[in-house]
Amino acid sequence: EVKVRARNLKKTFRRSNGELVRAVDDVSVAVEAGKMLILLGPSGCGKTTLLRCIAGLERPDEGEIWANDRLMFSKSPAVNAPPESRGLAMMFQSYAVWPHMTVAENVAFPLVSRGYPKREIPAKVAAALKRVGIPSLGDQYPNRLSGGQQQRVALARSLVVDPQVVLFDEPLSNVDAKVREDLRVELVAQQREVGFAGIYVTHDQVEALQLADQVAVLREGRIEQLGTPEDVYCRPATRYVANFVGRVNEVEATITMGSGNDNLAAADTPLGRLRGYPMAPDLTPGTKVMALFRPECVEISDKGASHNALTGSLLRTQFSGAHRDHLLTTDDGHRLLVSEMGRFAGKTFSPGDRLTLVVDSKSVLFYPL
Ligand code: ADP
Ligand code: MG
Repeated sequence: EVKVRARNLKKTFRRSNGELVRAVDDVSVAVEAGKMLILLGPSGCGKTTLLRCIAGLERPDEGEIWANDRLMFSKSPAVNAPPESRGLAMMFQSYAVWPHMTVAENVAFPLVSRGYPKREIPAKVAAALKRVGIPSLGDQYPNRLSGGQQQRVALARSLVVDPQVVLFDEPLSNVDAKVREDLRVELVAQQREVGFAGIYVTHDQVEALQLADQVAVLREGRIEQLGTPEDVYCRPATRYVANFVGRVNEVEATITMGSGNDNLAAADTPLGRLRGYPMAPDLTPGTKVMALFRPECVEISDKGASHNALTGSLLRTQFSGAHRDHLLTTDDGHRLLVSEMGRFAGKTFSPGDRLTLVVDSKSVLFYPL
């Protein structure tokens, strides 16, 4: 059941110097009940503008917006529903909780302003606070709370009206890393429990992959790929997506054999021959491509290998707890990154060691240049 649908939205701004910016450039997205759609992209790619259009805070130039089966915006017939009538709750970057009100008063505010029956408000507020894990903080003032607790108050305030859709604009960007991760986990749990549909804006790929049912990767106002977290990470549609959603090795190559029965093609790189998946239909022999593979799709072999093997010297190793990253340089000056799971990293290596890397051919992707 689709809760929010935007069709072919466009929004252009004129900067003070007269220059036109296509902030949202023909974007279509939809989010279903109980699902989370993430809008992921670098700063300035139009995430906030898209969300503000859906919320009714920005008037699109073109396109249609539907929410809860009602037309909220279109040019003809001319429809532009005000934000408060769209049935959407919002949690934006500056998640201002009001300092002069207690936590309970903050959370009650949306109910009070909607004329909710007074007698029922305390129970609704208590339930919302319990849902976000701060059942006993109702009497506190926000300035006595940590950033994470204030965030929970803001979330409780969004959820107290049982919205069908919640719009989030980088709500966790002001919270430190550990708390942010906790709140993310909590948010997913809450979403399952409350069953709201969410549209969540972030520039953080880890956050995007963790929270998303669907990710829309944005670039300069356009959707570069729309898919599940697995889709965008394991089968990125473009090199841009591959680079934005994770770390990747890139080696230029020339196709030597088109894809066979197993769908794998082969390409020669300056480092040796690689087999992998063609990411465009017309990658015939002779086509220049870029071969991409992620650092964790490589095994280090000390025996040497003939197949899908690249050799280099270790520059340095970086330990980060869950994994261990090795940066190598090849004889022709390529840099390669390999990431081992920490618990498997039995062997240690020293700078200068010659290492053979065996790349899983199912994880190699060829993109046209
Ligand atoms: P993001 O949220 O992804 O960082 P924004 O939606 O805020 O991106 O902005 C997209 C583009 O539109 C940027 O180039 C930004 O400078 C421009 N922009 C946003 N709002 C306005 C505005 N009110 N006037 C002019 N330009 C704007
Ligand atoms: Mg923004």
